[in-house]
Amino acid sequence: MRSYRIALLPGDGIGPEVMEAAVHVLQAAAREYQFELSWLPALVGGAAIDACGKALPETTLEICQQSHAIFLGAVGGPKWESLPPEAQPERASLLPLRKFFGLYANLRPVTFYPELGPVSPLKEERLGKGTDILVVRELTGGLYFGEPKGIYPTGHGTERAVDTLVYETEEIERISRLAMKIAQARKRKLTVVDKANVLQSSLLWRKVLNRVAQEFPEVSLEFLYVDNAALQLVRDPRRFDVLLCENLFGDILSDELAGLAGSLGLLPSASLGSTRFGLYEPAGGSAPDIAGKGIANPLGQILSGALLFRYSLGEEEAARAIEKAVQKTLADGYRTADIATPGAHVVGTQEMAVAVAERIEPPN
Ligand code: NAD
Repeated sequence: MRSYRIALLPGDGIGPEVMEAAVHVLQAAAREYQFELSWLPALVGGAAIDACGKALPETTLEICQQSHAIFLGAVGGPKWESLPPEAQPERASLLPLRKFFGLYANLRPVTFYPELGPVSPLKEERLGKGTDILVVRELTGGLYFGEPKGIYPTGHGTERAVDTLVYETEEIERISRLAMKIAQARKRKLTVVDKANVLQSSLLWRKVLNRVAQEFPEVSLEFLYVDNAALQLVRDPRRFDVLLCENLFGDILSDELAGLAGSLGLLPSASLGSTRFGLYEPAGGSAPDIAGKGIANPLGQILSGALLFRYSLGEEEAARAIEKAVQKTLADGYRTADIATPGAHVVGTQEMAVAVAERIEPPN
């Protein structure tokens, strides 16, 4: 029987709750599609700081290295916000994990489920039935990593804060090629989000993209300033298919899209590098405002599991079965509190997972 090792990093806040729910669904799919999953639990984020003083302990890194993929919940929360910035859970665990494994591409598929039309802030006719947009976000460069970075004394009793937005040709080239390949396999349309009217880095992005585009003549390429992209996403999301963004713009626009789709709790993500190894986590954070209440939406975590099956394990059929089961569960009226409409059948985190697992169809 095919067998895979998955590093299981639930993290903080709602992380452990949505993770438990997702593992239930992934196990059900693995049983149905006849492969075996070994879960290798490890500490990350605030939970790891509390247990051993470090957000990303060595043992966690070793477990990740021994695995086919990393399945992560979320990290961070008010408890750790008073730590120095470089020791805080997100900065001290997620960024180094991405960097260590060279996970430079973050894929965030956003599906506008027709059943969730009423929870979207957009009018239903603007959403389009079943529109789906894929955000490809550069993940290991730009403002989040550029040096110098810090707050420095000016010598006049004040301080100066510096973040550096830096990109090199190769970093842009590899993500551009990946986005082009993805666009080629979809609707052959790629929209690149930048701020080329003011940023030098955007000019380099355009130069590299125009060159890479010559390898993909059948893909139509457009550039859009980020402020305009934010506006167009609200006016007419149907005009987009694949969006390629540098790190910061991708971070922001994918949350905007999550809001348009209905909830941050719905959105999965896959972080990939140059091999099949990847890190899979929902797009949202640790949601401290609802943690421990059993009401968090587990669908983003469950759908991240489907991406893990697809990209790191090559189990496409099982991945599709999970995605179809999520669709069916929504169509059957199940809702967590964040996507509830009047009269809906509102369920908790684990109940939602049980409903999805029950709807996984066997192989044809
Ligand atoms: P957040 O994404 O945790 O929450 C924003 C809003 O979305 C909240 O109202 C929350 O209840 C809601 N939400 C998020 N996920 C949900 C789900 N699955 N079901 C229902 N509702 C959901 O963002 P925040 O409040 O800005 O940050 C909280 C903490 O999470 C911070 O410590 C932050 O640093 C951290 N964070 C971690 C990650 C990560 O682990 N990848 C990402 C973003 C933020």
